[in-house]
Amino acid sequence: MIHDAIQIQNLRKTYAGSKGAPPKDALKGIDLSIPKGSIFGLLGPNGAGKSTLINILAGLVLKTSGKVSIWGFDQDVNPRQSRASIGVMPQELNLDPFFSPREALNVQAGLYGVPKAERRSDEILELVGLSDKANAYARTLSGGMRRRLLLGKALVHHPHILVLDEPTAGVDIELRQMLWANVRKLNEQGMTIVLTTHYLEEAEEMCDEIAIINHGEVVARDTTAHLLGSIDQKTMIIEPECKAMKFAVPNGIDLAIDPKGALRLTYRASKTSADAVLEAVRNADVIIRDVRTEQADLEDVFLELTRSR
Ligand code: ADP
Ligand code: MG
Repeated sequence: MIHDAIQIQNLRKTYAGSKGAPPKDALKGIDLSIPKGSIFGLLGPNGAGKSTLINILAGLVLKTSGKVSIWGFDQDVNPRQSRASIGVMPQELNLDPFFSPREALNVQAGLYGVPKAERRSDEILELVGLSDKANAYARTLSGGMRRRLLLGKALVHHPHILVLDEPTAGVDIELRQMLWANVRKLNEQGMTIVLTTHYLEEAEEMCDEIAIINHGEVVARDTTAHLLGSIDQKTMIIEPECKAMKFAVPNGIDLAIDPKGALRLTYRASKTSADAVLEAVRNADVIIRDVRTEQADLEDVFLELTRSR
């Protein structure tokens, strides 16, 4: 039994430069393993290489070098089995305008060699909420319906792994909730999910594990809980009763006064207690009207890891 749904070793991709542009190293030696059964988040700023990585997994982009195994099948040794193990919902809405949703699913099933008796087009249309549009002209489908159809297409061959590239970028809340409900349901049925997203709170909520990519390199890879725990910087925000001047604070505490006059005291929770911070404020004879704290979230982790690189 293999433990990882996907194994990537020293994966590199260099795009040849076109029209005089220099070649682009989009992936610079990625090592990554994605455990079976997880919902795995691939995060990173625009241009980090997320789509390149996903499109290599999907067999849509040729890697320059490295090793990719999908469900235990080496892409170079068993290209057919490795492709059959994964379904990809791409970032672009590339649909053939001449096919209705039902036809599009049947054509896709044909491409993947799914025998007619094993096709589940109606079931999939139901899952993605397109039953009533099964025979509609593709050009009459809204953007949200097209995205749902792309999800359906990714599922026709019953893959072990479902990969979604920015599935919720620019979609409305209703569709977002429907997509996530589908993803959760598929995951509960045993499907491994890999997704990229720009919405950090979404990754925080959905993903068991996360890899952060920046400039073609993995800069962090951990469980979501661990990543959030790794940043123990806290900020205590104190509204003083009267305008306060900057005062001396003990080592390990950083004091700033924001434009509205609130004191922002930043400290490491593992080294300095909240009580010590309050003590420092009281020692400066500041009368406290209100106190609140700010916790780090995934956004802080992300910024810290991708800043100025
Ligand atoms: P992401 O999905 O994280 O935004 P991409 O994988 O789309 O990043 O792009 C990574 C880098 O590779 C970017 O600098 C992008 O401009 C470049 N790139 C992507 N596709 C191509 C291509 N077909 N030809 C040349 N450069 C490309
Ligand atoms: Mg992308």
